[in-house]
Amino acid sequence: MEKNEYIAEILRLKKEKNAVIIAHLYQWPEIQDIADFVGDSLDLSRKARDTDAEVIVFCGVWFMAETAKILSPNKTVLLPEKGAGCPMADMITLEDVQHLRKTHPKAAVVCYVNSSAEIKAVSDICCTSSNAVRVVESLAAEEIIFIPDRNLGQYVARFFPNKKFIFFDGYCPTHNKISLADIERARIARPLAPILVHPECTPEVIDHADFTGSTAQIIEYAQNSLQEEFIIGTESGILHRLEQLCPNKKFYTLHAAMLCPNMKKTRLQSVYDALAKMQYQIELPEQIIEQAAISLEKMLAV
Ligand code: 13P
Ligand code: SF4
Repeated sequence: MEKNEYIAEILRLKKEKNAVIIAHLYQWPEIQDIADFVGDSLDLSRKARDTDAEVIVFCGVWFMAETAKILSPNKTVLLPEKGAGCPMADMITLEDVQHLRKTHPKAAVVCYVNSSAEIKAVSDICCTSSNAVRVVESLAAEEIIFIPDRNLGQYVARFFPNKKFIFFDGYCPTHNKISLADIERARIARPLAPILVHPECTPEVIDHADFTGSTAQIIEYAQNSLQEEFIIGTESGILHRLEQLCPNKKFYTLHAAMLCPNMKKTRLQSVYDALAKMQYQIELPEQIIEQAAISLEKMLAV
């Protein structure tokens, strides 16, 4: 099928199946353009929880679709590409969390949503990159075990000099590869452009950037700024949204290859197949849903 035929069929099937399509800001432009909602992981988890649709087609990665299922267990949640995982989420195991809890019995476990449902289920509260600071602020515990992203954890810890943080050694391969040399090159090439980075970048990169925030916060910064050009230190899918919202501003990526291979697996054909064949359905054990929902609902209440 041609692109326009896929789009027409997706719209038809969406109506027929009472489905909603939600897409993360790292998706290809063709996917963002057919989605009912495009956003960061916090926005999308709220949308998944609040939608009236019977079917949620989640254009993102596995942990995001699982989060949608946990928050809307009675809905059918489809992940169009079965293999769209997240290497960071796969870095931590249940045994790792159990070991951390044993060695730090008084600590609260704060779990970045980039994790499996099983890991969320054994955590005290979840967070996204948008609300991680507010989530930690809401906790009375003086010790925080932050899993699985060491970079986001170290970024959050900067705001709490009186709390003790224990980090797990996970990271996002896409963000972690940005180096100080990339910042130096960008400063020389475009000295006036602010450098906006995601907190999944290394502490060194964050130290030398002008602003650190989630994907939605990076967009907000660019929209409100009087500058005309920006260097973006996160996955390049965000440029599509930035260019739509700020047509008179220019955006450049901080690193030449800012692509998350998993986010980029989903194409129009994947979404069409998902709706036509009702695949791939997220199924989770009831007990995991119940326990993980507690950590996610606590986060959403913050
Ligand atoms: P956001 O929370 O900014 O949407 O980021 C999600 C993510 O996977 C970043 O790599
Ligand atoms: Fe996971 Fe990184 Fe891809 Fe986000 S960008 S989904 S953290 S691999």
